[in-house]
Amino acid sequence: MKQKGCALARMVDVSLQPCSARKVFKPLMIEGMGELMWACPLCSLERHMSMENKVIESITKLEKAHCLNDDEWSLLIDGRYDRQVLFERANQICEQYYGNKVYIRGLIEFSNYCRNDCLYCGIRKSNVLADRYHLTKEQILSCANEGYGLGFRTFVIQGGEDLSYSTGDIADIVRAIKASHPDCAVTLSLGEREMSDYKIWKEAGADRYLLRHETADEAHYQKLHPDDMSLTHRKQCLFDLKALGYQVGCGFMVESPYQKTEHLIQDMQFINELQPHMVGIGPFIPHKDTPFAKEKQGSLERTLTMVALTRIMLGNALIPATTALGTIDPRGREKGLLAGANVVMPNLSPVHVREAYSLYDHKICTGEEAAECIVCLSNRVKSVGKEIVIDRGDYKPVDENNR
Ligand code: SAH
Repeated sequence: MKQKGCALARMVDVSLQPCSARKVFKPLMIEGMGELMWACPLCSLERHMSMENKVIESITKLEKAHCLNDDEWSLLIDGRYDRQVLFERANQICEQYYGNKVYIRGLIEFSNYCRNDCLYCGIRKSNVLADRYHLTKEQILSCANEGYGLGFRTFVIQGGEDLSYSTGDIADIVRAIKASHPDCAVTLSLGEREMSDYKIWKEAGADRYLLRHETADEAHYQKLHPDDMSLTHRKQCLFDLKALGYQVGCGFMVESPYQKTEHLIQDMQFINELQPHMVGIGPFIPHKDTPFAKEKQGSLERTLTMVALTRIMLGNALIPATTALGTIDPRGREKGLLAGANVVMPNLSPVHVREAYSLYDHKICTGEEAAECIVCLSNRVKSVGKEIVIDRGDYKPVDENNR
């Protein structure tokens, strides 16, 4: 009987030698089969390999080696397999480092003025319909005081790039919060600035800095931002912040316009290079007064997949179950906590400005997710077997040898 396929195809027994097979066979995804088809590049003979084995093998490799090849990334990001396998592993890894503890951060959105014009963002400078506000130093301090009483031990000062606050003004705010609450951490999220500014704020007592890289692919970055913004500069800021001793958070939106799987792979590779302490991942959600008003919002499953992969790759990072996740699904944040997230960031801004800090449509901000309703939040967290703690919630370094 004539054997099928070329010698190369016959040589490789895919089911027995998945690693060597991977070198010569290209994976083909067959919808709904729950199985991977591997096609020989020379003769196109197709072979089956259990999707489940391949998924488990790739998850294990990500956990141990902290990196994957492009085919493995594509499989874990796009493959049709039961995501529960991935989420459960991510949750287990999270609990190895942080137990069932969930850290809370009080988010103070201090200004929605912004000099930038990011195409996706509702507070971009050319959105003339945005109802602009900024908080005074006294208002910010009173948010922090209120938050302290509610049990928050980290305050995140976030806003648009509003240059009406000088570098010194921000340093004063940091110093004032640290003076009133020396047991608290202060996180800044004020966008791209000079290293000298970051240094002054660090010396004033700031502990952490959040600056999502948004996408690690240069061409994709340009499609989301105006010409005067550059990915190179944003990445440089992240490395500068790290060099200054901040706990640093990067991150990206899932399914932002024009995003392809290869961009997500680059995000993961960049995260692995930066080794951040925190990673913020949320679905893209359109805002009605931006050029992306008609674009599709990111899906829950894909966002959770990226959260879980990030947890598995980094192990001990602090990963929020984001507000955007809670916006696209009523139990989005709880699902995030079960897929590897271990932080929630309720809104502590004065109630009258919350609607105005509108990065995307229908953002949850005044309901039971807000900081005042810490009991509601606590019950939600308990519903997934976890527990909110009164703690600064610092990054826990690990000895790589003990991993
Ligand atoms: N100016 C600060 C804070 C930006 S707002 C900075 O540059 O870091 C915080 C985050 O909200 C952004 O980094 C972005 O990832 C996210 N965001 C903005 N618009 C969004 C949208 N339409 N959908 C989902 N997330 C959005």
